[in-house]
Amino acid sequence: MPELPEAETIVRGLRAHILNSRILSIDFPRARYFRPQFEEPVEHYLESRIIDIFRHGKSVIIQVKTLEEAERFLVIRLGMTGQLLLGDHTDRHTHAIFCLDSPGMRLCFRDSRQFGKMLFVKDWRPIFRSQKTLSLRHQKKAAPEAYALNKLNRQPFTLPASDPLKISAGEFLSIFWKRRGMIKAALLNQHLLVGVGNIYADESLFAARIHPKQRIQRLSKQRLLKYFTLLVKILNNAIDLGGSSISDFVGATNVLGEFQLEHRVYGRTGEKCLRRGCSGLIKHTVVSSRSTHYCPLCQRRI
Ligand SMILES: [Zn+2]
Repeated sequence: MPELPEAETIVRGLRAHILNSRILSIDFPRARYFRPQFEEPVEHYLESRIIDIFRHGKSVIIQVKTLEEAERFLVIRLGMTGQLLLGDHTDRHTHAIFCLDSPGMRLCFRDSRQFGKMLFVKDWRPIFRSQKTLSLRHQKKAAPEAYALNKLNRQPFTLPASDPLKISAGEFLSIFWKRRGMIKAALLNQHLLVGVGNIYADESLFAARIHPKQRIQRLSKQRLLKYFTLLVKILNNAIDLGGSSISDFVGATNVLGEFQLEHRVYGRTGEKCLRRGCSGLIKHTVVSSRSTHYCPLCQRRI
């Protein structure tokens, strides 16, 4: 938490209010506890104009143009409880305050559990470059063109992490088809796919009737394609409902999301399965040390 839909909800809220605003001041009121990372002095960001706000996976990225017309980026990783709020939200969990040129407008970063991060960088892309290289055998199978290129250039090849709302079904297949291991573990692996966390992995696997511990290599192409369609549908639906408001999540304008009311397995351990005609009770297990929820009757392992 927050996952892709929550980050997207924040981005949309911010875009509606502070695009084209100028940053007048930046304060870190609790510098002892929260240390942002800078590639250059923070003063470079003063008087800069916010020219874009977007998302990569679960991170919010604010693009600014400095007084010298240079483009810079502010990458915010929300961690477990990070909030980006418009207005005056100063309390003991507020770690950064941006005063903007619209009168009285402030952007505050609150984070009670302090797993969030803030980075001021010249380019956001290298931060997200995949760290893990795939085995040569898997490269050959998953991305034959890149494999060939890699052989030619002898460069280390890394598969860039892909955003499920931005990749095609074919690209999704190239990452997951015939991959080894449990499906939920692969979905949570941010080097493969960015933005899908615990809630949406559980909910999408339930929708597709796939057991969270299902070995991926036993799933057919058709089954994976169907899964991808359902995953994208659930993510979009969650964005439309303003995300899931559990563990502190609120949108930029302090509005609660409503997707938590649509959860069908997440957090429902011991309750009756909501699929019509199914008498299963939702079970709890652990995958990749994350709490996992599924229906043992309609999500069977093959
Ligand atoms: Zn069921």
